[in-house]
Amino acid sequence: MATEVLIVGAGPTGLALALWLAHLGIRARIVDKALEPGTTSRALVVHARTLELYQQVGLAGTLVEGGLEFIAINVWVNGKRRGRAEVGRMGVGLSPFPFLLIHPQDEHERALIAALEAEGVSVERGTELIGLEDGERGVRARLRRGGGAEEVCEAAWVAGCDGAHSAVRGAIGAGFPGGTYAPVFYVADVEAAGEAINGELHVSIDRGDFVGVFPMKGKGRARLIGILREGGDAGEELGWDDVRKVAVAATGIDVRRVNWFSTYRVHHRVADRFRGRRAFLLGDAAHIHSPVGGQGMNTGIGDAVNLSWKLAMVVRGEADETLLDTYEPERIAFARRLVATTDRIFQLVARPGPLADRARTFAPLLVTTAFRLPAARRYLFRVVSQIAIEYRASALSDGRAGAVHGGDRLPWVPPESGEEDDFAPLASLRWQVHVHGSASPALARACASRGLPLHVLRFGPGARRAGFARNALYLVRPDGYVALADPEASPERLEAYLERRGLQPGPLAEVTDRSRTTAPSTAPLRAPPESPAPPDT
Ligand SMILES: Cc1cc2nc3c(=O)[nH]c(=O)nc-3n(C[C@H](O)[C@H](O)[C@H](O)COP(=O)(O)OP(=O)(O)OC[C@H]3O[C@@H](n4cnc5c(N)ncnc54)[C@H](O)[C@@H]3O)c2cc1C
Repeated sequence: MATEVLIVGAGPTGLALALWLAHLGIRARIVDKALEPGTTSRALVVHARTLELYQQVGLAGTLVEGGLEFIAINVWVNGKRRGRAEVGRMGVGLSPFPFLLIHPQDEHERALIAALEAEGVSVERGTELIGLEDGERGVRARLRRGGGAEEVCEAAWVAGCDGAHSAVRGAIGAGFPGGTYAPVFYVADVEAAGEAINGELHVSIDRGDFVGVFPMKGKGRARLIGILREGGDAGEELGWDDVRKVAVAATGIDVRRVNWFSTYRVHHRVADRFRGRRAFLLGDAAHIHSPVGGQGMNTGIGDAVNLSWKLAMVVRGEADETLLDTYEPERIAFARRLVATTDRIFQLVARPGPLADRARTFAPLLVTTAFRLPAARRYLFRVVSQIAIEYRASALSDGRAGAVHGGDRLPWVPPESGEEDDFAPLASLRWQVHVHGSASPALARACASRGLPLHVLRFGPGARRAGFARNALYLVRPDGYVALADPEASPERLEAYLERRGLQPGPLAEVTDRSRTTAPSTAPLRAPPESPAPPDT
C-alpha cells in the first residue's frame, strides 16, 4: 500500500497519533475537512499522564511553558466565599508533572502541528472523508477536496479521529449508544476584573444558578462555564446577554469583553466497538461525555498513543496483527468507566430541583475539605491526572513483582543523586527491560539477543516507595506501561512472554547501567558483573 496509515481528523487525537507514528518511523497521511485548525480554546486542562506521554516525544516542555498551573479551587455559595483548597503540586512524588495544567486547545493543537511539521508531516486540509470500504486486506477511502475533486486513497489501516459525528464510525456500522442531557451549557472566554479573577478556579452556586470560573494565561483572562437554560437548542443564536448571570454577579466579576461564546449540549456515549476490520475509532469518535474533570481530550490522546506503537510494530513486521486486537479492550474499558463516572458527577451538577440544589451547595465544600488531607489529595491526583489508568486485564499484561502488576503504568521514581529518573529511557519509544538493583548475565544476554535495551537502575528508597521489587524484571512497552513483571527476572519467562505474543521488538541492543553513576551514561553492550541479590530492605 502507498499509504500505510490514513488518519481522518486533525484534532488533538489525530495529531497526537500522527506525531507518535512519525517518531516511530511511520509517515501517516493525515486529512481534515476543515480549512484551518480550530481557533477556540475548548479543552483547557492537560493532565499529567498526557504530559508524561508528550515527554516521550519532546513536547511536554512546550506545553508546560505555554500553560498555567492550577493553584487553588474556591467555592462560593450565595455570594460568600465558603471554602478554598490548594490543588497545586498535588502529585509530588507521583509524576514529573505533579499538577493540572491549563493550556487552551487551540494553542495545544498549534504545538502539535508544529511538532508534526518538524517531523516532515503536514495536515492535508480541506480534505473530507466521504466514503470508506473496510476490507480484509486494506481500506479504500473516498476523499473530497475543497474544489470538489474526488480521490480514492488505498491504505493498509485507517484511524477514525474524526470527532463526535465520525464518518468512520458510520462506515464500520458501530453504534454510539448513550444519551444527551437536557440543559444547554454556555462557555465564554472573557476579559474581566474582580476578586475571582486571580489565577485560581472559582465555583459559584447561587439560587439554582452556577458558574465555574477557570483562570487562563494573560491578565484578566478567564473561561466561564455554566448552565444557560433547560431545553432549547445549543445551535440557536444565543449570546452573553442570554446568560442568567446570578452566580457570576455573586462573585463580583465584572465582564468587560467576551472573546468567544458558545453554547453546547452535553452527551454521554461510548461506541459499541472501537474497531472494524482495518479501521479504528479514537477520541471523540469513540467516546464523548461531560467536560467534568477535563478528561475528553486527554483520553483521546491516550487512545492515540495506545494505538500508535501497535500499528507501527505491525506495519514494520515486528508483530502479528493480533497485537491490534488489544487496542479495543484496553481503551474501551476506561472509556466506559469514565463516561459512567462523569455522568454521575454531571447529574449532581446539572439536575434541577431543591434536593440537587442542596447537594450542589454541600458537595463542593466537601471536596475542598478533602483536598486538605494529603492522602485524599494524592488519591484525587491519581484519578484525575489519568496516571492510575491500567491495563491489568489485557492479554498483553502478565505477572506481578512487588506492588507493580503487568498492565500498570510504569511507576515514576524521582531522580536521586543527580541521576535521571526511570522515565528518561522511555524517550526511545522502544520496548525495554528495567531492573532496579542488579541484572544477571543470563538476563543481559537474553535482552541483547532480543534487541531489548536493558536499563539497570538503582534500587533506592524512591524505587522501593514506587513499589518496585529489588532485582525484579519489568518489561516495559513503548507507551510506558509494564507488560511483564517477574520477581525472578527469569530470561526464560521473558522469552516465553514475547514468543507467545509473536512480538519481535527492534533489532538494536544496549545495556544502560546507571545504578552506580552520578551522571547518566550509556555503557557499551556488556553483561553486568554477577552479583548476589542482596535482601530487600
Ligand atoms: C466547550 C468545550 C469545552 C471542553 N473542555 C474540555 C476540557 O476542559 N478538557 C478535555 O479534555 N476536553 C474538553 N472538551 C472536549 C474536547 O474538546 C474534545 O474531547 C476534543 O476536541 C476531542 O478531540 P478529537 O481530536 O477526538 O476530536 P475533534 O477535536 O472533534 O477533531 C475531529 C476533527 O476531525 C475533522 N473531521 C470530522 N469529520 C471529518 C471527515 N469526514 N473528513 C475529514 N475530517 C473530518 C474535524 O474537522 C476535526 O478537526 C471540551 C469540548 C468543548 C466543546
